Amino acid sequence: MTRTPVTIIGLGLMGRALAAAFVRAGHPTTIWNRTPGKAQDLVEAGASQAPTVADAVAAAPLVIVCVRDYDAVRELLAPAEAALSGRVLVNLTSGASDEARALAGWAAERGAGYLDGAIMMTPPGIGAPQTVILYGGSPSLYETHEQTLTVLGGGTTLISSDVALPSLYDVALLGLMWSTFNGFMHGAALVGTEKIAATDFLPMATDWLKGVASFLTAYAHQIDEGSFAAEDATLETQIPPVRHLIHESRLRGIDATLAEYTERLLTEAVAGGHALDSYARIIDHFRPTPA
Ligand code: NAP
Repeated sequence: MTRTPVTIIGLGLMGRALAAAFVRAGHPTTIWNRTPGKAQDLVEAGASQAPTVADAVAAAPLVIVCVRDYDAVRELLAPAEAALSGRVLVNLTSGASDEARALAGWAAERGAGYLDGAIMMTPPGIGAPQTVILYGGSPSLYETHEQTLTVLGGGTTLISSDVALPSLYDVALLGLMWSTFNGFMHGAALVGTEKIAATDFLPMATDWLKGVASFLTAYAHQIDEGSFAAEDATLETQIPPVRHLIHESRLRGIDATLAEYTERLLTEAVAGGHALDSYARIIDHFRPTPA
């Protein structure tokens, strides 16, 4: 079977993992990086190093870019603009939705197809069956290259024909991740004041997260239906426990900011007349203020 030749531009931690996955899967793989010296092991594994970025773009119909940010993508592709015509640019660089839309327009003006992707994994997971990469762009373009793109992760999927949506999902999911990390750090610091190891706290925390995920299922339905009657715990019921968390944190010399923020969300919602609603009502706080 002939595998589609691919070019990988950007050999940071992620770009190197992407290139290695294509080499392993038998795709003719061309690589380029702004700073030389990062390609040796990939070349030894079978990749070809292009002398210039324009040569890299010209080497394959599918050009994958993964660098620090969208400004870097524009900057590095500027000398290769002419070579982009007739190729498909796949941008796996993280960014915001407006940047994705603008880059898609820029690529179209140069005669290139464009797919935008968000990698929901760290480099060691690239190529694994469960690794998710979210794509946005033309369904027919995606379909043409789906098999090749799946080399990077078995959970690769087209979520929308809108190139902006992968970036939007990316930041939404990262926000969820950081909030969860912060909750874990706060909890581990609290029990740590009693010399309880984070690894001992871990099993309870991960079991608790399963319960939390089940609460989210109910809340997501309430948000979509716009009906917030508490079936588990009312907002006013949750104010005393969050105050216990603030008190306990201060008692043990631990930063209580996270808990104070939660207290503010709860008291504002209760003051707004939503004392008997479920936690899903807090969505109002996060929604844009109507113009
Ligand atoms: P990294 O290790 O810091 O590598 C950054 C890459 O960007 C290097 O190849 C660097 O080239 C290049 N670069 C930076 N500025 C440039 C410029 N002005 N012109 C040309 N090239 C430039 O970062 P990474 O971990 O590979 O991440 C790359 C992208 O993947 C980021 O958008 C990141 O958010 C995203 N991502 C990363 C992860 C992860 O876990 N690492 C997960 C999901 C998504 P030089 O070698 O010349 O400096």
